[in-house]
Amino acid sequence: MANLLERLPENVPGDFFVDSTCIDCDTCSQLAPASFHDHGEQCSVYQQPETEAETRLALMALVACPTGSIGTNEKHDVHIGIDAFPSLIEDNVYFCGFTAESSFGAWSYLVVRPENEGGNVLIDSPRFATQLVKRIERMGGVRRMFLTHRDDIADHERFFAKFGCERIMHAADGGRRLRIERIIEGEEEVRLDDDLVVIPTPGHTRGHMLLLYKNKFLFTGDHLAWSPERQTLTAFPSVAWYSWAEQTRSMAKLLDYDFQWVLPGHGDIHHDDAANMHNYLESCIAWMKTRR
Ligand code: SF4
Repeated sequence: MANLLERLPENVPGDFFVDSTCIDCDTCSQLAPASFHDHGEQCSVYQQPETEAETRLALMALVACPTGSIGTNEKHDVHIGIDAFPSLIEDNVYFCGFTAESSFGAWSYLVVRPENEGGNVLIDSPRFATQLVKRIERMGGVRRMFLTHRDDIADHERFFAKFGCERIMHAADGGRRLRIERIIEGEEEVRLDDDLVVIPTPGHTRGHMLLLYKNKFLFTGDHLAWSPERQTLTAFPSVAWYSWAEQTRSMAKLLDYDFQWVLPGHGDIHHDDAANMHNYLESCIAWMKTRR
């Protein structure tokens, strides 16, 4: 619950505000960019929501915030934000909202499929919030839980206990220690079924992996995201915990795949056709080679 007494001075006057507990995960600025921005070390409200649509997005940001750092002076129906999640991205792919502080506000996603097509897949772990869990249950539960890397696993044990899902994680990120059901090893791609391909991409962590769904949706964890400043795909050298050189090398593997959506844990989502994505990826790799 945000504290009015801790309201950041960078907020513009008015209803919505961010307090000093913000951890600068950028979820609010990505979800409701008309109202929130990153002013440096934290986020704040730079323009109060005016329309119904802007207010709805601000309430979604309030719900999605991992630290409960967003508050309002006026009363709102918070269910507007709660009921918006999981929020449809395209086709049968959803953003879960309800990010977890233990994953530093990383975004998680849900692929909804009939049981005879392999069932639902949860990519990384949202907060185990009752309202979200009930919604996911009504949407068919979780058959598989794909964990891109060790930083974004949050409440995976509680989702496993609730849904009995098969969790998938790389050995090099501690999958065995965490008693994960399906351990991936090495760097070869692993096909989970006709539509799901696991692509190991060491760099951010040693056991980082991506998941490609239907050659369209690429779930990228902390490996790859969109740069609104440079208007191309990018990676983050300052958080290449394992090896930037390895991340650059494993990024090049993605040139062999088609995808139209980049859906990261941290950083901006992007959608474009496969040819443009390929070009952006090439520019990203060229840029990575200039960095150390
Ligand atoms: S979502 Fe919450 S923690 Fe993340 S940047 Fe916004 S206010 Fe800060």
